[in-house]
Amino acid sequence: MDNTVRVRFAPSPTGPLHIGGLRTALYNYLFAKKQGGTFILRIEDTDQSRFVAGAEAYIIEALEWCGIPFDEGPGKEGGYGPYRQSERSQLYKKHVKDLIESGKAYYAFDTPESLDGYRKEHEAKGKTFIYNWHNRLKLDNSLAMDPSETEAKLAQNVPYVVRFKAPEKGSVALNDLVRGEINVDCSVLDDKVLFKSDGMPTYHLANVVDDHHMAISHIIRGEEWLPSLALHQLLYKAMGWEPPKFAHLPLILKPTGKGKLSKRDGETGGFPVFPLSWEGSAGYRENGYYPEAVINFLAMLGWNPGTEQEVFTLEELVHAFTIDRVQKGGARFDPDKTVWYNQQFLQLRSDAQLLDDIRAQLGNNGLPAEEDKMLELISLMRERASFPLDIVEKSDYFFRPPDSYAEKVVRKQWKPETGDYMASVKEILESVTDFRAEVIEEAVKSWIREKELGFGKVLAPLRLAIVGDLKGPDLFSIIAFIGREDATDRLKKAIESLGGRHNVTNIDF
Ligand code: GLU
Repeated sequence: MDNTVRVRFAPSPTGPLHIGGLRTALYNYLFAKKQGGTFILRIEDTDQSRFVAGAEAYIIEALEWCGIPFDEGPGKEGGYGPYRQSERSQLYKKHVKDLIESGKAYYAFDTPESLDGYRKEHEAKGKTFIYNWHNRLKLDNSLAMDPSETEAKLAQNVPYVVRFKAPEKGSVALNDLVRGEINVDCSVLDDKVLFKSDGMPTYHLANVVDDHHMAISHIIRGEEWLPSLALHQLLYKAMGWEPPKFAHLPLILKPTGKGKLSKRDGETGGFPVFPLSWEGSAGYRENGYYPEAVINFLAMLGWNPGTEQEVFTLEELVHAFTIDRVQKGGARFDPDKTVWYNQQFLQLRSDAQLLDDIRAQLGNNGLPAEEDKMLELISLMRERASFPLDIVEKSDYFFRPPDSYAEKVVRKQWKPETGDYMASVKEILESVTDFRAEVIEEAVKSWIREKELGFGKVLAPLRLAIVGDLKGPDLFSIIAFIGREDATDRLKKAIESLGGRHNVTNIDF
């Protein structure tokens, strides 16, 4: 067992966790567990202006619901804390000071207005303003002024930021575990802000400092951070630290395959993009998904096992997961496939578990039947269900006679002689002594055989009379479920309404 594997999921608490973020957490978890490593949660809350109360608790709850809890993080000390960046500001201050003293970073006093002016000026000429070696000596910073001037400005509390002095020449060679060799030309890099006048570090500084101090061995994160990778490598070098290994995960794409999956896609497509509901936005949990299904479909969005296997338990995923099977290209999100996954996991539940699932979702709305009847219903309907509530929502006809008959079916199945057949079936139902599905089935079928009628001629209209359509599970099980009285009433009603007519247009009553 290699205990030196330490990976982190480092969300910013700026809102709920999008499923893209959850997939990042999952891949980190799988990678760590496969190698007996440690999965760390670090809260990157240095941008106070984007802080959202409740977001951290949401993230933790989502990880727990998915069954991928962190080993170290807020509230779970592991010797590398604190795990919220807002509680680590002294560390960043110390490192930024070191970088300035060694000439690798510098103070910049440019006001937002003056920088904006430069930007506009450049734009007008069709150029882009980049703050770097190109122009830094013409701007308002400690490299361009006398040390005493810098001292004076600092003493007068003139607002400043600290910028990284990106190299003018050369290139950074990066090796990404998903993307392979990447080379970045240093001359195009800008002097990124590392530290802000509010006394807080930016993402870049805090991220690198923490990954080092938390002894992170592998950084597994979304593709959107790839453009920051060169800077991060340079920062490790500037600090004299060995960088961790990197793996950048592909984007999750819209169902159309074009562009990144967004919250709006979920709203227009009617599917959740959050694991748990958040301020009116749907969540997988509340929509009746099993966490196992969510984990499974997320695992397959950007990774494949190299075999035909599609359904995995979390344990199997841990076993099968390797970074080299993570794809480079974006992974198209398919809402129908998420439903399919849920159906697979639903089929693994026992009837009693499904009853609990239904109860949990119905809340105080109450079950449509007593417990033993519910279990009978579940065993009849489960095969057809993708979600626990499908069992209740698609089973009206178990509790109520149909209030209309499917028009097309009536036309095709209800012949002039059908009324007579149904009257005979009604008599059979009245007379069977034991009202169990097998007994009823045998009685009806032997009568059909005796009369040489053909099953279809009787069983299709019988289903129509009982269910209102040609849908549903085993017909005789439905008849047994609803009971003798209800079944014979339904037949009577069908005979009265459909009688010998087979040309009816209005069959509602
Ligand atoms: N705080 C960054 C985020 O919100 C973390 C990126 C990284 O993993 O380095 O995604």
